[in-house]
Amino acid sequence: MKAVAVVLAGGKGTRSADPGRAKLAQEVAGESLMAWHLRLLEPSEIDEALVVAGHLGDQVQELCDDLASEVAAVRVIHEERQEGTVAALRLAAEHTDADEFLVILGDILMAMPVQHLLDDWRASGVGVAVVVHPSTHPEDSDAAFSSHDGRVLVVPKSESRDHVPNMSSAGLFAITRDALSRYGHLRDVGSDILPQAAREGDLFAFVSSHYLKDTGTPDRLVSARADVDSGAFARRGQLTARPGLFLDRDGVINPAEPEFYGPEGYVLLPGVAAAIREANRAGVPVIVVTNQPGLAKGFMSFEDHQRVRARMDRLLGAEGAFVDDYLFCPHHPDSGFVGEVPELKRSCECRKPDIDLARVAASRHHIDLGRSAMVGDTDRDRGFARGAGMRFVHVSALCDVDDAEDCYPVAADAIRRGIEVVRC
Ligand SMILES: [Mg+2]
Ligand SMILES: [Zn+2]
Repeated sequence: MKAVAVVLAGGKGTRSADPGRAKLAQEVAGESLMAWHLRLLEPSEIDEALVVAGHLGDQVQELCDDLASEVAAVRVIHEERQEGTVAALRLAAEHTDADEFLVILGDILMAMPVQHLLDDWRASGVGVAVVVHPSTHPEDSDAAFSSHDGRVLVVPKSESRDHVPNMSSAGLFAITRDALSRYGHLRDVGSDILPQAAREGDLFAFVSSHYLKDTGTPDRLVSARADVDSGAFARRGQLTARPGLFLDRDGVINPAEPEFYGPEGYVLLPGVAAAIREANRAGVPVIVVTNQPGLAKGFMSFEDHQRVRARMDRLLGAEGAFVDDYLFCPHHPDSGFVGEVPELKRSCECRKPDIDLARVAASRHHIDLGRSAMVGDTDRDRGFARGAGMRFVHVSALCDVDDAEDCYPVAADAIRRGIEVVRC
């Protein structure tokens, strides 16, 4: 299999900070976006980038001539008429014999493990992949969410997405030549191919907590530049193993009692959204790890549980906060109860204090568990943290002054302590 990158230099940029300048030439931290795109490919097998340029094509050509051969060969293809991203991609495909295309929307600043994406996508065996992450502007994004069974749900922003967790396309895709020919009649990769491929079970969603941010409007460009200055870009975009902040859900993000088996009445603990937002702004990946035995006990369905998460995401989002990933154990070991789901009533390795969820998060998100922190309210969380080699921060109303461990009666304070641990 041969893969190439296709960089879509984009439309007229009427929303961009400087409409007279090609988007790929916009600079962040002293380097053009195109230079950042090439850097993205550096640790991957991809050694060629095709740039499809229309508007301000001469500028793009000049920029790419300057950058070529540093990391990958770069060829600029000039598009005569702009007829959507799929047409641009098909044009690029005519200029190469590659079987796979990594599709980069030109105005996204990215630092993420591209080879990991390619490997996981190939293992999934489907034709199209999309990188998804929580959106900082969910009202303005189509949702793309990978359910517990691997099915991907794509919900356009025009429809209600109240039942869908806050996950959206990050503007990085992969598609096989075969899939491109099947979806070649469509117009846009994001808004047309994704929903179609999702309906056909032909879409893989790669959940990323790395750095991918749209710079297509003046505000967003300013915000990306601020992330570079604050160190958030370096922290989030780090490609070697980095520390992460793990949070239990019940008793840390929302009250432990009553238990939530649906979104009705779901609330956050005071100050938690603001504390998580601090982690987000610092570029610290936030991963929820939660035991949800109510699924095995038959108290809720996977759809109910997904709606609880969607509600949690929405409440966090209303305060500008998000979680990067959410991993849960649906099992419970003791069987023999009325209404239980027999196939979920079993021992497993994903129920805390077992550490399978930490292993999954570490490999999915390139996390160094030894430099990470876990915030939880139970002995199971403590056992999980210790087993995985993480620092444990305890939320408890019964903190003792001579407690040897970090202990806080208020969850938001415990989360802030967790951020301190992973930042040092
Ligand atoms: Mg708990
Ligand atoms: Zn489990």
